[in-house]
Amino acid sequence: NHTLKNKRALITGGSRGIGAAIVKRLASEGADVAFTYSSSPARANEVAQAAQALGVRAVAIQADSADASAVVAAVEQTVDRLGGIDILVNSAGVLAIASLNDFKLEDFDRTLAVNVRAVFVATQAAAKHMQAGGRIINIGSTNAERMPFPGGGVYAMSKSALQGLVQGLSRDLGPQGITINNVQPGPIATEMNPPTGEFAEMLTKHIAVARYGTVEEVAGMVAYLASPEAGYITGANLMIDGGFSA
Ligand code: NDP
Repeated sequence: NHTLKNKRALITGGSRGIGAAIVKRLASEGADVAFTYSSSPARANEVAQAAQALGVRAVAIQADSADASAVVAAVEQTVDRLGGIDILVNSAGVLAIASLNDFKLEDFDRTLAVNVRAVFVATQAAAKHMQAGGRIINIGSTNAERMPFPGGGVYAMSKSALQGLVQGLSRDLGPQGITINNVQPGPIATEMNPPTGEFAEMLTKHIAVARYGTVEEVAGMVAYLASPEAGYITGANLMIDGGFSA
């Protein structure tokens, strides 16, 4: 299945978890891939090698999403190394949970910088280089709609912000033939959200299908949205949450 042959993709936060699965899935469909990471060079190298083994070009770029100039530089490097950009997936994200009393202002600022500001900055930088058929996909969260435990208000706010952003930007990008969408996963087994332990047990009670999702399931939805077939989907907030928000 080479639906994405000759496409060039940048995935932010591709060294681990959902982002790494997206890198591999887009590569398996024939896309050349660049991806960013901030602090896991060895993991990034493994992901790049796995993608190269699928017969595509793969480039790992160190870029802290909290640093807007690093994000712009990552987009420019993608364009230079791959010869352009057709697909941007904003997956890098952080989760800080603390009670209202204990929540630190620096965690508030970092959450907004990585989960929201970097998404805007990468979108602005990438859209300039995209042709008609371009695709922008953000990884939001079901927590934009439902946050059933204390301490997650700032994270939920950051993911709700993406809803307004994609809705609004769909109007800017639509006339150029570029779509922008928000994929909203529920609990997915990653290092950010391990599927075992007390917290997982509490979360699983809210999931209609009574299990965590897999990174591959999320990557499948992203691959569909990145495909030429998905050109009539834009400005959408799409749940993939096992019914968590139902
Ligand atoms: P992980 O913590 O497993 O992986 C996070 C990835 O993002 C890593 O590759 C990490 O790279 C990268 N990253 C983190 N901070 C930065 C930064 N400042 N700059 C660049 N890259 C960064 O998270 P998940 O895979 O679980 O989450 C991916 C996305 O999915 C996030 O946006 C998250 O909010 C969202 N999500 C996750 C859910 C879940 O249940 N797991 C549910 C709903 C949404 P490095 O290690 O190099 O820092």
